[in-house]
Amino acid sequence: MTPDEFRHAGHELIELIARYREDVSASSVRTRAAPGDLLAELPATAPDKPEGSDAIIADVEQMIMPRMTHWQHPGFYAYFPANADLSSVLGDLLSSGLGQLGLNWQASPPLTELEDRMCDWLRQMLGLSDSWSGVIQDTASGATLVALLCARERASDHGQTRDGLRSQPEMMIYSSIQAHSSVDKAALLAGFGRDQVRSCAVLSDFSVDVDDMRKQIQADVAAGRKPCAIVGCTGTTATTAMDDIAGLAALAAEFGCWLHVDGAMAGSAMILPEMRHLWNGVEKADSVVFNPHKWLGAVFDCSVYLIRDPQHLVRVMSTNPSYLQTAADGEVKNYRDWGIPLGRRFRAMKLWWLIRSEGVEGLQARLRRDLENAQWLASQIEAEPDWQLLAPVSLQTLCVLHTPANAELDALNTHTQAWCEAINASGDAMLTPAMLGDRWMVRVSIGALDTTRSDVEALWRQMRDVVVAG
Ligand SMILES: *Cc1c(COP(=O)(O)O)cnc(C)c1O
Repeated sequence: MTPDEFRHAGHELIELIARYREDVSASSVRTRAAPGDLLAELPATAPDKPEGSDAIIADVEQMIMPRMTHWQHPGFYAYFPANADLSSVLGDLLSSGLGQLGLNWQASPPLTELEDRMCDWLRQMLGLSDSWSGVIQDTASGATLVALLCARERASDHGQTRDGLRSQPEMMIYSSIQAHSSVDKAALLAGFGRDQVRSCAVLSDFSVDVDDMRKQIQADVAAGRKPCAIVGCTGTTATTAMDDIAGLAALAAEFGCWLHVDGAMAGSAMILPEMRHLWNGVEKADSVVFNPHKWLGAVFDCSVYLIRDPQHLVRVMSTNPSYLQTAADGEVKNYRDWGIPLGRRFRAMKLWWLIRSEGVEGLQARLRRDLENAQWLASQIEAEPDWQLLAPVSLQTLCVLHTPANAELDALNTHTQAWCEAINASGDAMLTPAMLGDRWMVRVSIGALDTTRSDVEALWRQMRDVVVAG
């Protein structure tokens, strides 16, 4: 494609995206596609002859867009928000258009230095001290894997430079039964076995039971095992429960463990000074991950890994082949040594666009709007005898149960899934059913960019209507 063809098609594509965002609320939030629909329409083999961008754009409109689940819809309350603020979309487009690849500083000095500064802006926005350094990773799953690799290498005194784990005592990882599945996955990928991962009990608010963790650690130490890492969660996925990070930090210090804090979702809330008590003790952690690609609004993917001892990280991750060495190496950050991939996208660009376009105050105002909407809905639910909240509303996600009179567990679970499905099938809103213990509940996660109070009011009306119609 020539630059002139790009100019022509690019204008059309920007127009298409702008129109999509203007009109998205008219679509069904949840996809209406059936499995295989698109595959059946796509040609089975690649075209031999070139096609014009008009044909491609027409197919995007006819084949792709009508089959999407609309994450940017004001009725999107499923999972967690994955906001793609249009300012960050411009930054992402620019990052692609400039075609930079950060193998080392020299390969793209602005890519490295903008990332350095954006991570530091975010650190300050989160209210963390200047003893933290940051790097952008793809996802929280990737960052947590890096954290457990750092933990493994600290506990084994860099066993990777000798015989790996072979002559090590059995090393143990601790988190809660409510921890994200990425914690288990990271542990398994980092060479720990299932038996080396302890999932500790939770308290009634679904935060980890620090005393149970202490007992498990003590039992492991008594049996000759070596505590290696604790993963605490600030904002769990099912209920946004807040682990007692200060309590976990004390355990980590006592038993010489790495403390990693998974704040993938709730990290965004820490740009609000009034929310920072939720991760009290975080300054004593070794690493933190949070995803600007969730609530904050940077289009996926953009996950920030903050670490207190970057020299340790670099020692674990560095490779130094001759073809990547440059004269500047002593003076600059080479982010290839701060994570797993060698190549690096210009992801800082979308953060730069987002933060400058919205301003810290603009971002704070939007998050406060969502917190207020969640509190409003919580108060409505609490005022109705048949409706219940199953977990504290610490952020913007509600765990909701509607209980008809005398419902047995099985009937209740069927009822819960039925009313959730009725809302999702309507296309007006999308919620996620999830299990908490042996009970199904419905998660309402408020925080899409365009979700206003009147959208939440409409959702609440619909929730009451569907349980009656049930
Ligand atoms: C979303 C989420 C993750 C996983 O995020 P990815 O960036 O998709 O890997 C991990 N932990 C928590 C608490 C989350 O909410």
